[in-house]
Order: sequence, then structure tokens, then C-alpha cells
Amino acid sequence: MAKTEKQREAWRRWYEKKGRVSGALRHAEWIRKHKREAKAIQDRWYAKHGKEWGAKYREKNHEKILKRQRLRYERIRKEAGPKAPRPPKKEKTSEECRAYQRAWYQKNIEKMRAYGRDWARAHPETVRANGERYRRENRGHLLAQAKEWKRKNPEKVAAIKQARYARKKGAEGRLSAEEWATLLALFDNKCAYCGVPLDNRNRTRDHKIPLVRGGSNRSDNILPACRSCNSRKNTKTHEEFLAYAYPAGTANP
Ligand SMILES: [Zn+2]
Repeated sequence: MAKTEKQREAWRRWYEKKGRVSGALRHAEWIRKHKREAKAIQDRWYAKHGKEWGAKYREKNHEKILKRQRLRYERIRKEAGPKAPRPPKKEKTSEECRAYQRAWYQKNIEKMRAYGRDWARAHPETVRANGERYRRENRGHLLAQAKEWKRKNPEKVAAIKQARYARKKGAEGRLSAEEWATLLALFDNKCAYCGVPLDNRNRTRDHKIPLVRGGSNRSDNILPACRSCNSRKNTKTHEEFLAYAYPAGTANP
């Protein structure tokens, strides 16, 4: 496949006319269109020169290749014209960096969360170990935090305790926060039995049929009651309690 001097000269002229880049692009295009033929040419080349030919050539002609590259870059630089001066790099303060990172995170929050979830799912052992270590190292802080949350959310604490108790008694159903709010509104935020106004300190959920007597934990079995009525009622049903607290003839609010 050696080219004759004449052929080489023709190629050189063609390259000069079309420009090197265009020539390289056409070459790549030809290979794309003639895959089988290109492969055959390559195979023949390798059969003749061996697969290591390229590596050997590069080793032997290291200097020459470097020089060729340098010339090529110089040519490209010259063609591109004078370089535009680079704008002076602004020194960012750490505050700006953090703000930038925050903004970036906010912008990509869904992506980052999905990434975190995938990572956690792929590394359950690491996640567990990290969690254990974090809880061990921040025990005091976490306990204080939990205490503070309980102080601020007595309603939720009561609901959690009550739900736990209901589960323990095997009661069916569950009272949602919305249902509880509806019940409170229905009774004007007053005790269903004595009518005393309810607040965070005295508000309780009374089970009309107590859980211990097989009552459910659904909203149709729950009434808002003051702590006092609830403890007096104890394990009575609401009917038994009304008969006991307000015997016939006495006022029943
Ligand atoms: Zn009451």
C-alpha cells in the first residue's frame, strides 16, 4: 500500500487546498461509510507491521511527534489570533462560597435527595453504623432536643402514648390528627362530660367504650374529655359514666 512520490504530492496539494481539518473530517467520514473496507485495510496493515507497530513508532520517534504537536499548536494559536485577556480572577470569600453551595444544593435538591436515597439503599450497613455512631456521640444533645420537642408538642406526645396504648390493647383503628381536630371543634374544645374548657394541660382522649373492654380506637369511639372526668370514668363506658356522674334528675350538660 506504499504510496508513490507522485501520490504523496497529490495528497499534499489536496490537503493544502481543503485545509487539514477538512481532510481529517473527510477521512473520518469515509471510514464511517466504508467500515468493512476500512477494517480490511487496518487488518492488512497489522498483518504486515504487527500490532505493536504504533507503540514502537511512538517510542522511536518521540521527539519528532512532540515537535509535530508543538508546530500544530503553534499554527492553531496563530490562526486563532491574539488571546483575549483572561478576566482577573475574583477572590471569593468563604461566605460567598457557602452561599453558592447552598444555592446550588437548593436548585438540585430533588436530584441530590434521590442520589442520597439510592446511596443509602446501596449501603445499608454504613448507614446503620453512621447512625449508631452519631447517636452515641450526640447523646446529650439529642436527649435535650427530644425533651424540648415533647415540651412544645404535648398534644402529639399524648397522641403517641395513646396510640401505643391502643396498639398494646389490640384495639383496631387509628385516630388521625384531622379527626381529633374535628372532634374538638364539634365539642367547642370543651369536655364532652362536664363542659370545662380544654387546654394543653387537661385535654385527654376518652374512649367511650374503653380499650380494655374491647372499644376501638376509631373516631366514633373517642370523645374529648378533661383529665378529671377521664380518670373518674376509668373503665366505665360513657353510658355507665353518665349514669354514675349524673344520676337521673341531675343536670347533664
Ligand atoms: Zn370533664
